Amino acid sequence: MITAETVNNVREVVSGWRRDNLTVGFVPTMGALHEGHASLIRQAAEECDRVVASVFVNPTQFGKGEDLDSYPRDFGRDCKILEQEGCDLVFHPDVTEIYPDGFSTYVNPEAEMTCRLCGKSRPSHFRGVCTVVLKLFNIVTPDRAYFGEKDAQQLAVIRRMAADLNLPVQIVGCPTVREADGLAKSSRNAYLTEDERKDAAMIFQALEAGRKVIDEAGGEASSDKVVSAISQVISEIRDSRIDYIEAVDGTTLMPVEKTGPGTLIAVAVFIGNTRLIDNFTV
Ligand code: AMP
Repeated sequence: MITAETVNNVREVVSGWRRDNLTVGFVPTMGALHEGHASLIRQAAEECDRVVASVFVNPTQFGKGEDLDSYPRDFGRDCKILEQEGCDLVFHPDVTEIYPDGFSTYVNPEAEMTCRLCGKSRPSHFRGVCTVVLKLFNIVTPDRAYFGEKDAQQLAVIRRMAADLNLPVQIVGCPTVREADGLAKSSRNAYLTEDERKDAAMIFQALEAGRKVIDEAGGEASSDKVVSAISQVISEIRDSRIDYIEAVDGTTLMPVEKTGPGTLIAVAVFIGNTRLIDNFTV
């Protein structure tokens, strides 16, 4: 596996592959890799001739007071996982390589998709995500880019950006990888104390309670009923605070009154100081 720290270095390697008519898959990450990231790399390696991953903790997607400084970083460990899963090139730039002095152009997704769910408490988050993802697409020029359904709003916003800006890349959504007790794998799970980690499995149980309400209604349940079933289970979690529980259209992210195919049920919950997100699609 090649490690590149500069844009030019990535371009050199990828243009060599292009000359050989090889297809390129891309998996953007912030590092602290786990089985969720590994599954994206594996899928990319199955579907593309060459795989590029980026490991970059993107400062512009963190708000003031968020965990930019404490976000877990272990590049040596990440490289081992990437190589094992079939990654050919890892891009690990410094912040100044991506945001040099004078940087002043951002991609601003329209508020409809970013004013609810995670966007409500993280108002500039998706501006940072879209900006870095578009930059990375322009650097890597992938044929396909792989994103986890775990971050469902991010996936929807990136699909929208790719369509709106005619980006020549296919966006591929990949299923959420979970721990044995159902907790969605996340780099931020490392922040949980032992007790919090045990309690965190109840987020998945809460979603399952929501899913049951939908199943019992033959797929078409009142969103309020689904939200209240989920809320009931989450409110039993010690030291927890609900950020949001919402039923929205999975593509437009607009709220829906009744669930149906493609409805996204998404939650964000603080357990202690750690904010965790999870979701499922009907
Ligand atoms: P991050 O490093 O958190 O920015 O995540 C990088 C990519 O991995 C994003 O597309 C995430 O949606 C995806 N991802 C994170 N956790 C999981 C998971 N548990 N299952 C599947 N994909 C995931």
